[in-house]
Amino acid sequence: MAWRFLGFLLCQLGGGLLGWWLGRESAALVGLVAGAFAWLAADSVRAAAVLRWLREGNQGAAPAMRGPWGEVADRVQRALRMRESQATDAQRRLQDFLAAIQQSPNGVVLLDAQGRIEWCNQTAADQFGFDLKRDLMQQVTNLIRDPSFTAYYHGSSHAREVVIPGSRSTPSLPVKLSLYLHPYGGGRRLLLSRDVTALEQAEVMRRDFVANVSHEIRTPLTVLAGFVETLQNLPLEANERIRYLDLMAQQARRMQTLVGDLLTLSRLEGSPLPGTGEWTPVALLLAQCEQDARALSVALGKSHELRFDRPAGHELAGAPGELASALLNLVSNAVRYTPAGGSIEVAWRMLPDGRGEFSVRDTGPGIAPEHIPRLTERFYRVDRSRSRETGGTGLGLAIVKHVAQRHGAELAIESRPGAGSTFAIRFPASRLRAGPSVSAAQTGTSAPPATESMAGQG
Ligand code: ADP
Repeated sequence: MAWRFLGFLLCQLGGGLLGWWLGRESAALVGLVAGAFAWLAADSVRAAAVLRWLREGNQGAAPAMRGPWGEVADRVQRALRMRESQATDAQRRLQDFLAAIQQSPNGVVLLDAQGRIEWCNQTAADQFGFDLKRDLMQQVTNLIRDPSFTAYYHGSSHAREVVIPGSRSTPSLPVKLSLYLHPYGGGRRLLLSRDVTALEQAEVMRRDFVANVSHEIRTPLTVLAGFVETLQNLPLEANERIRYLDLMAQQARRMQTLVGDLLTLSRLEGSPLPGTGEWTPVALLLAQCEQDARALSVALGKSHELRFDRPAGHELAGAPGELASALLNLVSNAVRYTPAGGSIEVAWRMLPDGRGEFSVRDTGPGIAPEHIPRLTERFYRVDRSRSRETGGTGLGLAIVKHVAQRHGAELAIESRPGAGSTFAIRFPASRLRAGPSVSAAQTGTSAPPATESMAGQG
């Protein structure tokens, strides 16, 4: 400011001196006033330049000038640049934030105080069938029309979530969404949605499983309790007592087998995946299967023609007990379901793509195509009474599928009613290696023990 004042004085002084030089005292006064006007005019030109720059929306660089107007323009420009950079920063952060919400596996919908959709992410749009452009600022209750959501939306408490079908839900492929409304600033609400289809399915499966297990155990228990009561209350002949005790032992065995299979399944689910450090000769697995299959065929009073491969030189990596159990389950099914006189062939072969395949082929009743995809479900049976008569639990193929999956293998089933069945497990090349051939003596004695369940079935 001092410089500004000094400039003003210098202009006046210059004007006065010029007047003095031109016309002495009277002209000096005029010169003084003219100097003051000249300074004011120059100052107004500078102020006008700054004002024009401000009015034009600060486009381009600030007018370059010295003095207070220059400083004003400079300061305004710096303040504006800082604002701009803060706004860009805030915009970038908002974009990052929205991008993060876009990536969320859950749906997010922002609702204004009137319940209109202000913004939603792609997941929510997919789950509710919203059109991201057309449906913005639409009333959410007009778009999500499920009555339980409407009641939840208009209700006073949103502490609990509500589950409704998703927009793509169909009777054969149901989709369940869990919705949660969360109020925030100024009467707005945040609608969060989560796909709980898998969770709901798991819950249904858990309930079915508990119901199935209870049913499977209750039947032999009821029979057992009935026999116990008969033995307690009736004076029976010795041979009748023996018959009853035999029947009781049969029911007890059935429960033992069931509990064994359940334990096997839970062990398979709970234990770490088998590594590739332990190698079992394929011939050993087949040899053990052969022993058990022949014993089971005799025990069931059927005379089957049993043909077993004698492969030499291949070893399989994995858990030996699990592998034996899977193979034994397939062979025991073939023996149990193939009528007397039928034939069963168990083979091992290398596939052209380097995989190795165990296959169990029988000339049994075969299976209708509609049952095949469901055979590995727990407790699924095509013929309930035949399964029970022969000591089946309905868990054998579920165990086989688990073992196969844990070893990176696949279970393939080919069957036609009346034309027999072929069950095959195909192991990946990474679990196979060429090994020493196994002698007959070895195969007869040192086969790996099958898991508990199969030991019970044989
Ligand atoms: P189960 O203990 O009843 O045999 P599984 O899980 O081993 O249970 O098999 C499921 C169902 O698949 C059986 O109940 C049976 O109906 C059918 N099944 C399995 N293997 C054969 C087979 N070799 N031939 C005909 N049906 C079979």
